[in-house]
Parts: sequence; C-alpha cells; structure tokens
Amino acid sequence: MSKQKYALHWFRRDLRITGNANLRHSWKVSDGHVLGVFCFDSAFLKRSDFSHNRFAFFLKTLTELKKELQAQGGDLLVIDEQPHIAFPELFKQLGLPEVVSYGTDYEPFARSRDENLKSIFESFGVKTHSERDHVIIEPHEVLKEDKSFYQVYSPYFRRWFEKLNTPEVAKRIQDQAVVNQYYDKLTNNKLDSIFKLKWSDFKTMPFRDSLEKFENENNKSVSIPIPEAGFKVAYDRLQEFKGRLSGYSEKRDLPYLDGTSKLSIYQKNGSLVSSQMMSLLGLQNQNTQYVKEIAWREFYYSIMYQRPECEKQAFLPQYVNLKWENDKQKFERWCEGKTGFPIVDAGMRQLNQTGWMHNRVRMIVASFLVKDLLIDWRWGENYFMKMLLDGDLAPNNGGWQWAASTGCDPQPYFRIFNPWLQSEKFDPDCEYIKTYIPELKNYSSKTIHNPEGERGSVYPKPIVQHSEQKIKVIALFKAAKS
Ligand code: FAD
Repeated sequence: MSKQKYALHWFRRDLRITGNANLRHSWKVSDGHVLGVFCFDSAFLKRSDFSHNRFAFFLKTLTELKKELQAQGGDLLVIDEQPHIAFPELFKQLGLPEVVSYGTDYEPFARSRDENLKSIFESFGVKTHSERDHVIIEPHEVLKEDKSFYQVYSPYFRRWFEKLNTPEVAKRIQDQAVVNQYYDKLTNNKLDSIFKLKWSDFKTMPFRDSLEKFENENNKSVSIPIPEAGFKVAYDRLQEFKGRLSGYSEKRDLPYLDGTSKLSIYQKNGSLVSSQMMSLLGLQNQNTQYVKEIAWREFYYSIMYQRPECEKQAFLPQYVNLKWENDKQKFERWCEGKTGFPIVDAGMRQLNQTGWMHNRVRMIVASFLVKDLLIDWRWGENYFMKMLLDGDLAPNNGGWQWAASTGCDPQPYFRIFNPWLQSEKFDPDCEYIKTYIPELKNYSSKTIHNPEGERGSVYPKPIVQHSEQKIKVIALFKAAKS
C-alpha cells in the first residue's frame, strides 16, 4: 500500500474550485494533497429522463474543471463506475485518504446514495466532510415554530429572508464569494500552484480516466449546440447580467427580451452558486424580485427534501389519482411545438432548439399541457428533464406541480391560463413567437393572438378549443375532490 498522504474531494454538482468550502476543507486537512474525483453511474443512462444534451454540458463543465485544477497543480479523475464500488477500490490500492469531502445534496436518490457511501467510508475508518454548497439556507433551517416545514411560499420567504440577514448566513455568503483576483488570474493563465498532488503520482491506479470516452460516446446523441461551460463563462455572464439587474423586475416576464440572467444552467452544475450570485450582485440583504426567485428555488428544494415522494406523485393527496386523458398524439404535438397555439409552440421549439425556455413560457406550456390537453403533469415534467440543460429535479417538479395545481402552494385548479391572452400580454408584437415560428413571420400580431385567426396552411390549426377544455379540466379536478 502506498503511504502517499492524500485527501479526496468527490465532485458531484459543485463543479468549481473557488468558493467550494468542502474542497477547501480537504485541501486544508491534507496540506494541499487533495485530488478530485467524479464517478459516473451508468445506471443514469437508462433513466427515462436522461438527457444526452445535459450530459454533454455536464462533461464540458467537468473538462473545464479539470483544466482549472491542473493549472493549479491538481487533478481530476473521471471514473466509469458507481461510487460504492469505486471508492473501496481506490482505498484498497492507494491506501486510506485523510478525508473524503463532498457537497450536501437534498434529492431523494442522492440522499440514500450518500447515506450508503457514508457507512462504507466509516467501515474503512475514513473521515468524511460534507456541508451545504448550492443552497444558501438548507431546508431544515427554515422551519415554523413547531418545527414543521412551510407549505406556503410567502411565509417561507419571510422566514428565509430573516435567516438571510443573520451574521451566520452573511458569513456563509462571504466565505463562498468569488475572489476577483482568482478570476483575473484564471483569465490570464496565471493561477497559483496550490495543489500538491496528481493522480499520476500514484504508481498503481485501479481506474483510467473516462472523460474523453464519455464525451466521444455521448456526443453522437447530442441534438443541439452545447453552450460554453465552466466557472469562467458563468462568471462572465453574471458580470454582464449585473448591468441589466436594475431592469430585472420589469423585464423578467417578457420572453422576447433578454431580461433574465440565464444562469440556471450554470447553477445546476455548481459552476456558480446562488450565494456567489447574490454577493456579486450586491443583493445580500435586499428584498428584491431577484432574491425572491432565488428563494423560490430553495423553497422547491425544501419541499423535495421534506416530501421526497413528490418526485413521483402529487404533493396534495386529493390529486394523486386525477383521471387524465393522456392522449399520446396530442402529447407528441405538444413536444414538437405543433399545437396551433403560437405561444405554446414557440416555447416548445425554443426548448427543443436551445435546451432552455423562458420562465413565463414554461408556465404557459405547462399549464397548457395539463389544463388544455388534460395530460398528466409527469409526462411534461419528464419531457422537460430530457430537453432542459438546466433540468433540475426540485425546481422542475415544483414548477410542474405549481402549474398543474397538484403541488405545494400551487396555482388554484380553477385559475387557468388562457394561452391567447397570455401571448397577447407577454409577447404583444409576437417578436418571441416569430423567432421560433418563422412560418408566422408575415402575419399580424392581431391574427396570431386570435384563436380564430387565419394563419395559412403551413402552421397547424389549434388542436383543441381552450373554452371547452377549461370546462373539462375543472370537472376533472372537482371529480377528484368529491
Ligand atoms: P432568472 O430569472 O435570472 O432567475 C434567477 C435564478 O432564480 C434562476 O437561475 C433560478 O435558479 C431561480 N429561479 C427563477 N425562477 C424560478 C422559479 N420559477 N422557480 C424556481 N427557481 C427559479 N428551473 C431550473 O433551474 N431547472 C428546471 O428544471 C426548471 N424547470 C421548471 C419547470 C417549470 C414548469 C417551471 C414553471 C419552472 C421551472 N424552472 C426550472 C424555474 C425557472 O423557469 C428557471 O429557473 C428560470 O427560467 C431560469 O432562467 P434564469 O436563470 O434566466 O432565471
């Protein structure tokens, strides 16, 4: 057995170096002899919501992370093996590490995986370190007086915001803040050599690096251009967004404008975390719309943590067995963006072509699938996960259950978006619609927003009548209540 002193940082969804408290812990404990490891569980390839596009973005992020680690004398090993097999193998061949660190995860699968891994680490006598990473305030920290969790967003937000203003949370935010000097050094290829070990320093190695193999295999199935990835581009985007922040509350609901940060894809992989966004934007103690959106994300994490069964079923028990029509042809038309409802089709085409969709339009297409097509929200949730580069269990499930009126603090079932009025209100001149539906570019906005409008033979006629579907869906919900 090698006597090489080392520690391991197990990267999962915290793919950055700066402001990574768990990595920093291992670095300190091992006096800089910390190595990065990522284990890919190939069972994920078989999941119905697996996305080759999102995986490609993830691999690109890993590549950037590896370069960044290597530029500082460190290293990352991407292992094609499940962690409960990979870690024992590493320990047997390399000796025991000083510590294994990893960011806390709140999703049901990750929680049970981490419990299992923790007991494996303990059985080897290996110390672990795992603390909060991608949320600012953890789900168990925002509770009512009686220790139950908040099921309504507004009081949740009030409590969350109080907590945000405590010295303890202010320190967390400060600890995770990006050091400008780090960004400058990264940009100018002048990073300091702070890591003291590489994987090649070990004489025997049970695993080869599989990053390139994964990229080559996965790239065959990628269907969209994959954006640039990693901490640097995320940080550049955040700085660019800072200049647009003052217009955020007025513009965030208008899909034809570049009014939002588009940082969610970077948050998903931890290239940047919410606290870093808040500190660079100078929003630590401010009750602004942007802070409220960050809190929505944490609210949905809290719900998923407290009620893991929501991953598979309605939060509200009376809506677990709603009798959806689930018409497969209508579902396909929705997926393809060919429903004949321009705002819905534009949204679905944006999703299919770019892997991202504007939040207002996510709400419109989700409501349309459930309340106009009478299709189970889980079908839509699954399709979103397959297509979104920012696909993230808790906010996706939360967003879908909100739109479907089945979730925690949802849209009431009788309040139904009218897709025609939504498009008129949020895309009055049809700029967004025409970007994604070029066959409508010569039609007037009046015609496009009109349910009876004559839009030619290329673009489909509406597949349902909103006024009829509204009556049916209300009856469906009433039947479940009675
Ligand atoms: P910004 O407007 O710049 O917001 C800043 C940050 O706040 C975002 O990066 C995001 O982390 C958070 N945020 C903003 N809006 C919401 C919201 N409504 N709910 C929760 N967090 C929010 N978000 C995901 O990250 N992954 C998903 O898979 C996902 N699926 C969704 C599905 C549906 C049906 C709906 C209605 C919403 C979903 N959202 C999801 C939330 C939201 O649409 C995206 O976070 C947002 O569009 C990301 O764009 P942005 O970074 O420009 O957001």
